[in-house]
Amino acid sequence: MGRGIQRAMYTVVQLIGGVWGAGGEAGELVVHDPADGSRVSSAPIATADEVVKAVAAARGVAAEWAATAPAERAAALHRAADAVAEAADDLARASTAEMGKPLADARGGVEAGIATLRQYAELAPARGGRTLHGAPAAIDFMTPQPRGVIAAITPWNDPVAVSCGLLGAALVTGNVVLHKPSERTPATGWLLARAIDTALPAGVLSLLTGGPGTGAALAAAEVDMVAHVGSTATGRAIAVAAAGTGAKVLLENGGSDPLIVDADVDPVWAAGQAALGAFANAGQICVAVERIYAHRDIAEDFVDALVERAAALRVGPGRDPDTQLGPLVDRRHRDQVHGQVTAAVADGARIRTGGVLPDGPGAFYPATVLDRCRHDIALIREETFGPVAPVVVVDSFSEALRCAADSPYGLAATVLTGSMSHAQRAWRELPVGTVKVNAVFGGAPAGAAHPRRASGQGFGYGPELLDEFTATKAVHIEAPGGGHW
Ligand code: NAD
Repeated sequence: MGRGIQRAMYTVVQLIGGVWGAGGEAGELVVHDPADGSRVSSAPIATADEVVKAVAAARGVAAEWAATAPAERAAALHRAADAVAEAADDLARASTAEMGKPLADARGGVEAGIATLRQYAELAPARGGRTLHGAPAAIDFMTPQPRGVIAAITPWNDPVAVSCGLLGAALVTGNVVLHKPSERTPATGWLLARAIDTALPAGVLSLLTGGPGTGAALAAAEVDMVAHVGSTATGRAIAVAAAGTGAKVLLENGGSDPLIVDADVDPVWAAGQAALGAFANAGQICVAVERIYAHRDIAEDFVDALVERAAALRVGPGRDPDTQLGPLVDRRHRDQVHGQVTAAVADGARIRTGGVLPDGPGAFYPATVLDRCRHDIALIREETFGPVAPVVVVDSFSEALRCAADSPYGLAATVLTGSMSHAQRAWRELPVGTVKVNAVFGGAPAGAAHPRRASGQGFGYGPELLDEFTATKAVHIEAPGGGHW
């Protein structure tokens, strides 16, 4: 394939009831490469009727899959991980072609997905319930059981890693899964389903493609649980739909993560952290740095260094190995990002670099730094999901903490400080799922947190995700007639 330069055109098909190529009567969606606008993939759009039939077919094999031994399911998940590893290059190239991220990042996402599949294969059979101590002649215990039929509805920004987490945890705990990948990355979802399906009995995994309509039909169908990773607006629509069926909902949604830059840190180092957090994957990461509170003492030097970093990024197509900043996912999203930047300028913010729509093909948007931002403007309060770093100057660490906490979202936060007492205050006081001190990314493997408020509900990662996909049953057994067995 020569350094990933050769271009592929993908024709996606659905997997329904164990049959590849089923359905798609609602038409076809087409994805274009955000680097140059060329056609990348086409995928069928499932009708609501096809969704209902797919759910019924999945339910038909649910009991059999649930009754397999956990060790058998774990072995299947290891085989699935092997198949994903074999398809790793294809998966990475498809992600880059469909959503634009640099190829090395895409490959990193695939590796993370494989590692997650293997981790769940190891962890799941080791889990158990609890024995209870009731009447001496009785047997009492609590045991996790599969929930049944799972709808997994996933986004485009890290399509393999996110999907492997949900699919791996749901399948290995004995559930059947209907996966609806993003309409922006259907070929990536299709290649992943093809790999994982090779390791499973027919019908245990289904692939439905299409846009919000297909997702909405799936969320409203007679499933036992809907697991959604994506935007807050979609998560809320899914919660409403699932309230109509009684399905459990797991939501990992948007964020507007703050970065606090304390008075005592090296502003040039802090700018490096801010640039990494705000511009990696063109800002299209749920835990990207979305707003920066910089202490007045270092704010000027910090912003100058951040502007330098932003301007130095190598921009290009994700398939070019030198690229540091690829395009945004598409022009629709670029218009949204630019609209937010333009509105911030109208609100008094000043663009220090970027902020201009480039000429030429694709959905490129420059790394953008704005200063003179107020905490109450929309750019600060809402998720941008683009390479945009807005800076608010604060007069104290307490003010920074107060502003950081004052958000509709509660996903994660980063604090750069040399003060242990400030670090301690930050993790105790910030109402978010994850707090990072002196590193925007990182964290131990298998970490999991509860997102707060608009950022979702439930554990989307880590060993705890296995618990989300099971229902705990309490069992009490006595011998007939009140005797002993
Ligand atoms: P999105 O919610 O628009 O789309 C995600 C999926 O939901 C897609 O498959 C889409 O077709 C489907 N969908 C859309 N409308 C639907 C509806 N009404 N009912 C059911 N399904 C529907 O999100 P996106 O644009 O693909 O992803 C970006 C968002 O995802 C950002 O907000 C980002 O912060 C968030 N995200 C969160 C995490 C996390 O772990 N918290 C991880 C990655 C991305």
